Amino acid sequence: MQNAFDKRKEELKEFDDAMEKLNLKKRDKTIVVKQVPSDLMDKCNKCGRFIVKEDLIANLMVCPYCGHHKRLSAKERLNQVLDPGYEIILNNIEEKHLDFPDYKDKLDKAREETGDDESVVCASGMIDGIKVLVGVMNSYFMMGSMGSVTGEKITRLFELGNEKKLPVIMFTCSGGARMQEGVISLMQMAKTSEAVGRFNELYIAVLTDPTTGGVSASFATLADITLAEPKALVGFAGKRVIERTIKETLPDEFQTAEFLLEKGFLDAIVLRKDLKKKLNLLLRLHNYR
Ligand SMILES: [Zn+2]
Repeated sequence: MQNAFDKRKEELKEFDDAMEKLNLKKRDKTIVVKQVPSDLMDKCNKCGRFIVKEDLIANLMVCPYCGHHKRLSAKERLNQVLDPGYEIILNNIEEKHLDFPDYKDKLDKAREETGDDESVVCASGMIDGIKVLVGVMNSYFMMGSMGSVTGEKITRLFELGNEKKLPVIMFTCSGGARMQEGVISLMQMAKTSEAVGRFNELYIAVLTDPTTGGVSASFATLADITLAEPKALVGFAGKRVIERTIKETLPDEFQTAEFLLEKGFLDAIVLRKDLKKKLNLLLRLHNYR
């Protein structure tokens, strides 16, 4: 019996030596916490699940679990909707209403963070081969607020559409007027509405989350065809403000795209994956080639 034990011991020692030689022995017990690079994963802010960033991008920034349409930057939107090779236009219009304290700093910071010059980015390009002018608002740029340059760019986009006989597609996304510009900002509602009024070609608005305030109360809701992304928040004043004013509880789905579609305010809700195809179809139906 003792022999058997000794033999076993010897075998174990041999095994240990071999492991040592191969550098496999004594695994370090201390656990090193490795940080997952922050740009590798993203969290859905609707269902809370983690998604590999690459998968999310491949899925057009729509959560594969719950279908939540994440907000896009202006460039992400342009890349999704337009054919490659589009041109950014109407850039670098000078901002002249900078008197409000810290406004210029905020504007500079937003420019640095987004790489855009304003809360709306305009582009000339093609949707599956059909030439269009597109304006995309960026909620990451001072909450997509409408200042004087925003209004000027949108106005010029519609004027360019008239001149070149091209349709205009606006992707709206805004917190409303830019308070730093006071009444000048409010004036953009009249100015952009007037530009839409003078526009003779097809105007399609795609309301994305969130389209509120002065933008929803002007050019966003004056289109020939009004589309929206699923569950997009569309409204003028916030729900709580209205509830406090009218002293009534509003339904849960109030100010969602689905609610507005039911009330006849929208023409259709389009999934992001179908948007480019749907826009192309609408353009062809209106004889744009
Ligand atoms: Zn989700």
